[in-house]
Formats: sequence, C-alpha cells, structure tokens
Amino acid sequence: MTATESAIVWLQRGCNLLALLCLSASRSEAALAQSKEITRSLLEFEDLSDTAMATVLVWREVKLGVGALISVVAVTVFWMAYVEKLVWTYNFFGRHEYNVWWFISSIFVYMFFFDAWFYVTHRWLHESKFMWDTIHIHHHAFKEPTAFCQDAVHPVEAIVQGPFGHYLPTLFFPIHPLAHALFGFLSSIFAVAAHDGRTWDLNNHYYHHCAGKGRRNSFNYSLYWPLWDAVFNTRLVFSPSCDVTNTLWRRKAETAQRQV
Ligand SMILES: [Zn+2]
Ligand SMILES: [Zn+2]
Repeated sequence: MTATESAIVWLQRGCNLLALLCLSASRSEAALAQSKEITRSLLEFEDLSDTAMATVLVWREVKLGVGALISVVAVTVFWMAYVEKLVWTYNFFGRHEYNVWWFISSIFVYMFFFDAWFYVTHRWLHESKFMWDTIHIHHHAFKEPTAFCQDAVHPVEAIVQGPFGHYLPTLFFPIHPLAHALFGFLSSIFAVAAHDGRTWDLNNHYYHHCAGKGRRNSFNYSLYWPLWDAVFNTRLVFSPSCDVTNTLWRRKAETAQRQV
C-alpha cells in the first residue's frame, strides 16, 4: 500500500470514529437535556430580546449543523469505501458506452428518487412520536429559520436524509459520478435557499417551519417540488402569517417604532 492509500484509509477511519463520537454525544442525557431546553425556549418565543433571539437562533443552527455535517461526511466516506463497489451501477460508465442522454436522464431519476425518499422519511419523522420527540423536534425549534438551518438537524436525520437519499437513486439507475457529485452539491444549495425562504423554494419549506404546528399538524414535506405533497394532500400553498418579508423580528421592530 502506498503512502497516499494508507493516508486515505486512516482518514476514512478517523471520519467514521468522529461519526460514532458525534452520534453518541448527541444521544447523551446531558446533551439531550440542554438541547430540549433551548428547543423549548425557541418554540415558545418567550423571555428573549430580539438580539438574544437572533444570536441564540443562528448559533443553535450552526452548532447542530456542525455535528450533522461531520456525521454526513463520515457516512459518505464509509459508503464510498465499503458499500458503493457492491452496487450493480458501480463503475457502469467504465464498462459501457454513454452519451449526453444519460446525463439528462440522471437529473430526473435523481430528483424523483431523492424527493420521494425525502417525503417518506420526513413524514416518518412527524408520524412517529419517538422520532419526533428525539430527532426531528430539534429542526422544528426554528420557526423562522435562516439559511444556516439547512443542516441544523439531529445527526441521525442528517444521515437518513443526506447520504442515504443521495445514494438511493444509484440503486436503480447508473448515474455518472460527476453528475452525481454535481446533483448532491446542488441539493445542498437548494436546501439552503429553501430555509432562507426568499427564493427558489418551489414547495414552500419555510411554511413547514413557520405555519406548521407540532408533530401532526404539518404540510410541505418534500424538498424539491410539490409532487408528493399534492399526491398525498399535504400541500400548503400560501400562509399570510409567514410572509418572509415581515419576519418576527421585523414585526417586533415595527411595533416598537410605532409605539415611540
Ligand atoms: Zn418537519
Ligand atoms: Zn427545514
């Protein structure tokens, strides 16, 4: 084994160890208690000044995001090292001729399977009381999320909806590695835009945070487009209380100004 290969192996082991640490830390009693306390205060929007709210909100998003990010990278590295080569589509383009139609078809196949997986697992995170209480409630602490909220999820949720959703289409269709990497990157960009709430959000994910009430009373579960929400009648097209140009902080500031 060359020095580079051995460095890669050690990097993979390090990543997987970090993932294990991340998962176990996120499940510790102390971490859960602290996390739930912050979640409660954010959900209730009480006793916090505007500045404190903004600071706590973004820091909480970033803190959750770092743990989720490490877990996602570790699982991806594990998949690439040990699982990918067992899938029938592995190195498909090294063994077959291909043209531009493969690339174009890949876009639709990837988006179709990724979004179906996202819808099903997202519904599961809401429908199961256990999954909601221990995993998904952390993401819903952010009623008026920022762009940083894209990755602000429990590590388990990040793994299920990140690498699992990303690799699922390759079980059904050979996607060129370059196209696959590009779509994965674009999915993250799309999710950032969806949480920012101002543009490129075809399925109004911002309403899912802002207008959704708790575990059962929710809608707009898909990420990319409204297909599955329309099919299963879980689509909310407009919510006047969630006008993103009139956020909680801005409403408060305007109210304060009127009172001066
Ligand atoms: Zn949700
Ligand atoms: Zn979200």
